[in-house]
Amino acid sequence: MKGLVWLRNDLRMDDNPALREACIHSDEVHCVYIYSEEQMKFHNGADCKIEFIIDNLKSLNESLKEINVSLTIIESEGFNDNANKLLNILLDRSIDNIYWNNMFGTDENDRDEEVKALLNKNNISYKNFDDQVVYAPGAIKTKEQKPYSVFTPFKRRWIEKFNIDFLDIEFQYTPKAKSEVESNVHEFNFKFQKNHHVDMSLWKIGEENALNILKNYLDKKVLRYSFDRNDPITDGTSRLSPYLALGIISPKRCILEALKKNNFELDSGEKGIVKWIDEIVWREFYKNIMFSFPKVSRGSPFQDYTKNIKWRFNKNEFQAWKDGRTGFPIIDSAMKQLKSEGWMHNRLRMVVAMFFTKNMLHDWRLGEAFFMENLLDGDFSSNNGGWQWSSSTGTDAAPYFRIFNPITQSKNFDGEGLFIKKYIKELKNVDKKEIHDPSEIIRKEVNYPSQILDLKESRLRAIDAFNSAKN
Ligand SMILES: Cc1cc2nc3c(=O)[nH]c(=O)nc-3n(C[C@H](O)[C@H](O)[C@H](O)COP(=O)(O)OP(=O)(O)OC[C@H]3O[C@@H](n4cnc5c(N)ncnc54)[C@H](O)[C@@H]3O)c2cc1C
Repeated sequence: MKGLVWLRNDLRMDDNPALREACIHSDEVHCVYIYSEEQMKFHNGADCKIEFIIDNLKSLNESLKEINVSLTIIESEGFNDNANKLLNILLDRSIDNIYWNNMFGTDENDRDEEVKALLNKNNISYKNFDDQVVYAPGAIKTKEQKPYSVFTPFKRRWIEKFNIDFLDIEFQYTPKAKSEVESNVHEFNFKFQKNHHVDMSLWKIGEENALNILKNYLDKKVLRYSFDRNDPITDGTSRLSPYLALGIISPKRCILEALKKNNFELDSGEKGIVKWIDEIVWREFYKNIMFSFPKVSRGSPFQDYTKNIKWRFNKNEFQAWKDGRTGFPIIDSAMKQLKSEGWMHNRLRMVVAMFFTKNMLHDWRLGEAFFMENLLDGDFSSNNGGWQWSSSTGTDAAPYFRIFNPITQSKNFDGEGLFIKKYIKELKNVDKKEIHDPSEIIRKEVNYPSQILDLKESRLRAIDAFNSAKN
């Protein structure tokens, strides 16, 4: 028997149910990855993320070689041609079965339905799996059999239904029969033109490195997670998000290894571990929202009344926000972190997104797209969830009148101004008392811009806009 694994958002061998199943049931296993820069750009995929995908494909190819599995990259113009490209490979290579792990976006879903229809028509059997979540999306429901739209009860139910067997993921791969097809990963012309300024040396390539990051994090830092997670200068979070977003590590692996450090307790024991697992469940919650409320994938807010909000648009303000020149040091340093690392600390994502949608009163969809265009960990459901939370248009969202003051946030979470100094060279000699909101004299001296807006006025303007939308 020959099996084909269609790799998508699962660039790893560990806890990869599609690959595992193919290896169990086939003598010879092939992998394919359908590469389309056009499709990635259509979904606002960041340049740094595309580069990371390419490098991780190369790394995965080396691991697959060890079990005689060849990886073929197929060029594509977008989702429309996927069904036929797969069918051609299946027929050309006389492959019996195809396996893949699910994705939940609406475009991905439509594409998969097309693939399934063509496979059915040609009597080719397929099997698909859920690897990105512990529970099948939509499986956790309220007593009324409705999807959850608030995190805390979702999490409670998640824990109630949890069974350690869900994390039965260990599998020892053994070499398969060698196929005549050679991998084309090194010869394939990805036509990728680097167009970003992210320091990629920050992000080690490959699943072995991802597993090591997890191990180091759990060995050395997770116990302090509850204390350190909001402090952007302390490397207190795992920075595993790019690996989770691209499937270089699985959420089940993360939860299993964390539970081993907590006597297998999910909601008691070490606070840091419990809180960290909470965040992985947040990720799953947003995937469920995307699955159960497809409108969020189509650019609609979760809260219908917020469709009535009259968002402003000011080209200069938008540009200043993107460039990190708003005159609010914490916002600007965060935006510079995004550009230089392809990643931003979670606290700061909330602060800059709230500033954008409330103080600037700009449409959250613009900020959401800009994040996707720049994040290495760009993940539709988490990004959409984070933006809709911050703009109070989403599920479980921050109440619209609770608007972070960026200067207070800066004092609370970057008290010494060390994060600001790291990313804004102009402010590196400014005293910690001044750094959160430098005087006009200092701004002129060091060539740092004045504030683009008045915090008090803009706050009231936002509350008015939400009140008007409600009435
Ligand atoms: C406006 C906004 C946009 C965001 N966009 C993305 C995105 O595109 N991709 C993305 O992975 N996360 C996104 N997040 C969530 C969060 O900021 C990142 O997951 C987190 O900063 C990643 O850092 P870490 O790996 O060190 O996280 P850790 O604190 O170590 O958490 C472990 C893992 O849990 C998950 N996680 C943590 N916080 C959240 C959260 N609030 N929501 C969902 N999952 C979470 C991530 O997969 C993360 O890797 C966004 C948040 C906001 C407010």
